[in-house]
Amino acid sequence: MLGPTRCLLFGHGDISCNGRARCRKCSGYHDTEGCVREDHCLFCGPGHCPTSKQCLAHLQAVQLQELQHDGAHSLLDIK
Ligand SMILES: [Zn+2]
Ligand SMILES: [Zn+2]
Ligand SMILES: [Zn+2]
Repeated sequence: MLGPTRCLLFGHGDISCNGRARCRKCSGYHDTEGCVREDHCLFCGPGHCPTSKQCLAHLQAVQLQELQHDGAHSLLDIK
């Protein structure tokens, strides 16, 4: 499943992530579990969590990643 890394940024995998882990609810530098803060998107601000499907920044990043993925495949298909 495609999703943000533990630092909530895109374009790299969890293995290559050397950023600090962020909360998937309020984008703060703490564990998501037990978070009592309001939803706050790292990309857009308050209103939804950074992993929300309502998040345009999140959607765009996922789409971009899919485009890059497709691009890599079509490159490999060239004989
Ligand atoms: Zn990262
Ligand atoms: Zn939090
Ligand atoms: Zn957002």
